[in-house]
Amino acid sequence: MTNNVIGVSRKDFDTVMVPNYAPAAMLPVRGQGSRLWDQEDNEYIDFAAGIAVSCLGHCYPPLVETLQKQSQQLWHVSNLLTNEPALRLATKLTDATFAEQVFFANSGAEANEAALKLARRYALDHFGNKKDQIIAFNQGFHGRTFFTVTVGGQTAYSDGFGPKPGAIKHVDFNDLAALESLMSDNTCAIMMEPLQGEGGIHVASQQFMIGVRALCDKYNALLIFDEVQTGVGRTGNLYAYQNTDVKPDILTSAKGLGAGFPIAAMLTTARIAKSLSVGTHGSTYGGNPLACSIAEVVVDTVNDTGFLADVKAKSVIFKNALTALNHQHAIFADIRGEGLLLGAELTEQYQGQAITIMNLAAKEGLLILVAGANVLRFTPALNIPDNDIHAGMQKLSLAIEKWLSA
Ligand SMILES: *Cc1c(COP(=O)(O)O)cnc(C)c1O
Repeated sequence: MTNNVIGVSRKDFDTVMVPNYAPAAMLPVRGQGSRLWDQEDNEYIDFAAGIAVSCLGHCYPPLVETLQKQSQQLWHVSNLLTNEPALRLATKLTDATFAEQVFFANSGAEANEAALKLARRYALDHFGNKKDQIIAFNQGFHGRTFFTVTVGGQTAYSDGFGPKPGAIKHVDFNDLAALESLMSDNTCAIMMEPLQGEGGIHVASQQFMIGVRALCDKYNALLIFDEVQTGVGRTGNLYAYQNTDVKPDILTSAKGLGAGFPIAAMLTTARIAKSLSVGTHGSTYGGNPLACSIAEVVVDTVNDTGFLADVKAKSVIFKNALTALNHQHAIFADIRGEGLLLGAELTEQYQGQAITIMNLAAKEGLLILVAGANVLRFTPALNIPDNDIHAGMQKLSLAIEKWLSA
């Protein structure tokens, strides 16, 4: 039997798709490494990797091989059964981190939803029903379910859907005094990104991280690190917290974990995990063998001293190229971030223009991202060839040149 193939193009999107996205004009049809090709066979250099997802580039041969092999062995069994890839992946994740136990989900929001539900249940189990306050940070992003979007620090994403989950408060990122003034014995958990991605590439200071940990300890609150974007080598460590002196109680991982195949994980200690007892939470697809077999190869590949050292080296190349670009065009007020999660903030003069530059770059054959209205965001594959970095920067320079002279 063959499919009844119909020709489709970008314009069909507006007819057949719900209008919550506004995809670019080009429609990609294949990828290899850090390059993509569209329907017209135009080539693009990919500084986006989805949104910090395709961490080993497109169609990374060992992942293709694993997918093919596992697809002929076992796709899915439900969580009434366990499976070998899930157990192997969980073992590798716990061996590599502070954590002792793992819950698998399919997306960052789902992992965060699990983390928040676990924190609330843990507080209830140990301290009674008054301890329900969750504190998170302005401009933080934790996903699009109603709980996670409410914990996220942008009301633009959470307003307009009726009554929100309660007992959630926000303070400014890196403002320890503001956080301290909100905390009490009723604080159940703090949720934060070690480096805010969507919110504009803002790194938490060491001092802040240490202070947050101390406040959590003082008030018996759980510290949840949302490493959905920062995890799996993105910042040059397997997880960003490993570059600090601070350990979380719960950590969530998604995006890069499947390198393009949907999978997420919530990691925690055995003591805390006890509160997610049989029946308290679940997921139909979470931890399925297809996803876990792929993530296992991703973790094996990324959790390697040489690989992570390369990410840090590529980060320097990237930052230097952005600095050189700025010497030429003087459009960035700041270039920041860690590893290959980088942001370039536009100067006062060019406020609000990040999307314009992103679209012009695409016309030159370069995919980049934005983080808010004023920050260009770069999240290429962690194994992007140095040549592709240089070639992409030339395209970015060209796009900026044309834009400035228009
Ligand atoms: C992308 C992201 C999420 C949401 O992940 P989904 O897979 O889209 O649900 C949550 N937290 C952070 C920090 C993210 O960057």
